[in-house]
Amino acid sequence: MTNKEYADILLPGVKHTWEEYEEMYPERDLPEGAIVTRYAPSPTGLPHMGNLFQAFVSKVFSDQTNGVFFLRIEDTDTERSIENGIEKILEALKPFNIEFTEGAISQTEYKGNYGPYIQSKREDIYKAYAKKLIEEDLAYPSFASKEELDEIRREQELSKQRLGYYGRWAKDRFISHEEAIERINNGEEYTIRLKSPGDFFKKVILNDAIKGKIELPENDIDEILIKSDGLPTYHFAHVIDDHLMHTTHVIRGDEWVSSTNKHLQMFEVLGFKAPKYCHIAPLNKNDNGTIRKLSKRKDPEATLMYYIEEGIPVGAVMLYLATITNSNFEAWLDANPNGKIEDFKFDFKKANSSNGSLFDLPKLLNISKNYLSRLSKEEIYNKLLEYTKEYDKDFYGIISKYPEYTKDILNIEREQKKPRKDYAKYSDIKQGIWYMYDELYEAKDYEWQKITDKEEIKNILNTYINEYYDENDDKDTWFSKIQDLSNNLGYAGNMKDYKENPDNYKGNVADISTVIRVALTTKSQTPDLYELLRLIGKDKIKERFNQFD
Ligand code: GLU
Repeated sequence: MTNKEYADILLPGVKHTWEEYEEMYPERDLPEGAIVTRYAPSPTGLPHMGNLFQAFVSKVFSDQTNGVFFLRIEDTDTERSIENGIEKILEALKPFNIEFTEGAISQTEYKGNYGPYIQSKREDIYKAYAKKLIEEDLAYPSFASKEELDEIRREQELSKQRLGYYGRWAKDRFISHEEAIERINNGEEYTIRLKSPGDFFKKVILNDAIKGKIELPENDIDEILIKSDGLPTYHFAHVIDDHLMHTTHVIRGDEWVSSTNKHLQMFEVLGFKAPKYCHIAPLNKNDNGTIRKLSKRKDPEATLMYYIEEGIPVGAVMLYLATITNSNFEAWLDANPNGKIEDFKFDFKKANSSNGSLFDLPKLLNISKNYLSRLSKEEIYNKLLEYTKEYDKDFYGIISKYPEYTKDILNIEREQKKPRKDYAKYSDIKQGIWYMYDELYEAKDYEWQKITDKEEIKNILNTYINEYYDENDDKDTWFSKIQDLSNNLGYAGNMKDYKENPDNYKGNVADISTVIRVALTTKSQTPDLYELLRLIGKDKIKERFNQFD
């Protein structure tokens, strides 16, 4: 029996030969240096921050080279796949503007010429290549049951040997074609294993684009290529798919580093060029001084919905991810505060090559404060509408009722060179300005500071509104009037005078404006008081001051 006949018996019904597949997936016609990469999730749950980070890194490198960034669904572990996994993955990534040049769109649709992009739909392809290896005597059927494998493991543990199906432990290597066929005819289940040509005592060098040179032992494990259910293992599917899809850079989590010897070996035995590997560090968290992996279970910020629900702008999340992608991004952003991610030149050499990147939520929120301060009043108003429509219907109703008034409030100390940084999240905004709306204003919990005496407060407010307030004053005039008011009531209108002789005064101009501020808003910290007074208007100011009569 020829090897070809043998391969036909082991993997029957395969529609195409591997040569035909080679023709169906020709080289891509791309500019020199274009990076073809992918995001390759298993549809076992929703993507988390670590997944988003990987997708982000892959996307920026392909974008900046006018390359290809595709989505491939790795669903060969059918037991762990969740229902509508693809749709859920796409939906979770959508708000973060992770767009794919090609790939799966749903369980049944895809775009691009290298599909299908769902591994379970590529069974014939993997089998065609497994047949190639069987024909070349580089793969064989293995009947080893779970019990047998457990037994091998026990023996290896007892005799303190390396674990795995290799060398003399890989007994099924030695089964004759006749015996194999007889066992298949008897209905025994089997897998197809690689007949590894590797020598564990020799080294293979992985030239990782991020981590640099890594020395690994050659692989000598007879890895399973095709499982008994007919689907490939991750290792085999990765090699076949990234070959046929012409991936130039495999950007993936560094938990795969130690398996890369298997992958390099598979590329070699198949006669294919291996892609460049770029292994990225996982995201860590500083948990009260202990550095540990960011955990979907323990850390709300590890889930993507957290950002959406809290109203942390996606643009800021992306800027933060850029800072952990390349160590020089932050300095670049400081120098180019309005810089866009697309304008930065990412470099694998500037990526974190260690075992983990710190994911620092306070830092992200700080970036977010800057980010929000730089939006125009229109932009922030529209984003706030979008956010509240979903997560704060009451506030949504109010701000949609008063669009211009709300924009004016949001515009206080905005649209200027050094804008005020009040908010890190859309959900912070209401906390900062609720008192500007009668619908939300409550005359209680006044945050009085130095001046607390009711009579004194009443006197300050009445004198101010009756004798000093004029709605037509510009800001300078307004302030000099507050200074005059202070002087007249025995407070220093000028801070310098006050500092020189504090005992000569009851207090100073800041204490006076605080009384006005708190009486108007109940809060001691607010955006610019002049602007607030102007927006609230005389009638309402009087109404609010009347509380103290
Ligand atoms: N499905 C693999 C995972 O989710 C993909 C790894 C890769 O990118 O090759 O870990």
